[in-house]
Amino acid sequence: MSDAAGMRPEHRVIAVEEAFSIPEVQEALKAWTEGPGDDPDRDFWGMVFGLRNPFTERIQRQLVDLEGERLEIMDAEGVDLQVLSLTSPGVQVFERDAATGFAQLVNDRVAEVVARHPDRFVALATIAPQDPVRAADEIRRAIEELGLCGVMVNSHTDGGYLDEPAYWPILEAAEAMRAPIYLHPRAPSSQMAAPFRAYSLSSALWGYQAETGLHAMRLLCSGVFDRFPDLTLVLGHLGEGLPFWKWRVDFMHAAGRSHRPRLELTPGEYLRRNVAITTSGMNWPAAVRFCQEAVGTDRICFAVDYPYQDTADTMAFLRDLDVRPEDKVSISSGNAERLFHLT
Ligand code: MN
Repeated sequence: MSDAAGMRPEHRVIAVEEAFSIPEVQEALKAWTEGPGDDPDRDFWGMVFGLRNPFTERIQRQLVDLEGERLEIMDAEGVDLQVLSLTSPGVQVFERDAATGFAQLVNDRVAEVVARHPDRFVALATIAPQDPVRAADEIRRAIEELGLCGVMVNSHTDGGYLDEPAYWPILEAAEAMRAPIYLHPRAPSSQMAAPFRAYSLSSALWGYQAETGLHAMRLLCSGVFDRFPDLTLVLGHLGEGLPFWKWRVDFMHAAGRSHRPRLELTPGEYLRRNVAITTSGMNWPAAVRFCQEAVGTDRICFAVDYPYQDTADTMAFLRDLDVRPEDKVSISSGNAERLFHLT
């Protein structure tokens, strides 16, 4: 697409980490921030629902708006397609039966939106890992019956990580459905949260990537990619730090091999084979160019992280990204089309 100002990219732009909510879940999340307990995710969500200022009001409004302001911003800035996902922490903070019911409701609701705007939206399935068997059922229903294109998991669930065998039905269903699992951040689990709560480190400043990077490392070092070799994991924020650590991880993993599970590949080789990364919240050309070398251009997808990141600023970053034209097309849309099977 192009406009009179010539500012629009000439290639399709797909943004792959774009958050939404539905009123029922937004109300439940608000009630959760006001209820008992001290979950680290309440540091951010308690602020969103507890403070009234332009940021919190905009976030609350834009999350539940799918077909109004969101489409206007996409049109104005040149985002052709959003890959929608229920905002973090998804339904993972709710009691398991309620969470499973919410997941089904969210998937039904977003599938209706996708059906009304098939050229503007696709969506990742929401699941409740609290009940892994029903979560696996919901993956199959969401992909086969609703036509969704992947699965969203917001890092740990009650301190549990997807490499643990109890969660393998989720990995098995995702692999069988050719549905990538987007491992999205949430605040550190209760086991590791305490030191992160100083200086508001528990959310996007540092805690999100520390938690999610740890989760990804557990998956890479556990052997699940030998058991599920066709499973694809998607990591936002240019891989939650892992590309930068790849050389040292492989070096140290080999040095301590005797007391770790035996793997067919090195962690870095799984990173290149089984992981895709996205630019969400990392509008930094030098880091993108490094990731091209570390994990390969064909593993990098563009994302805005709407509504948390500004769409205009992020599109300016994409316009100015100084990579080869063919690489720009791959990052803007080609890799996402292949990853999420978008025609
Ligand atoms: Mn996000």
